[in-house]
Amino acid sequence: MDHYADAVFSEPVRCWRMVHDGEGSGRPTFCEEPVIVTGFTRLATGKRIPVWSCDGHLEGVEEPRPEPT
Ligand SMILES: [Zn+2]
Repeated sequence: MDHYADAVFSEPVRCWRMVHDGEGSGRPTFCEEPVIVTGFTRLATGKRIPVWSCDGHLEGVEEPRPEPT
């Protein structure tokens, strides 16, 4: 699944990736797929932050484990 640039956000129970909206406008939008795992990702600064991910955006998630909800 494609994702937008390196935009990353850390918000509970929301997929960490942004995606293009698929309508050809090129505007990024939040990925709205259901979250299945929680884990960590490393920012360019080296800082580790918790992230939540859907099935399509697992690449780049460290130590993924099933989202308990
Ligand atoms: Zn996603």
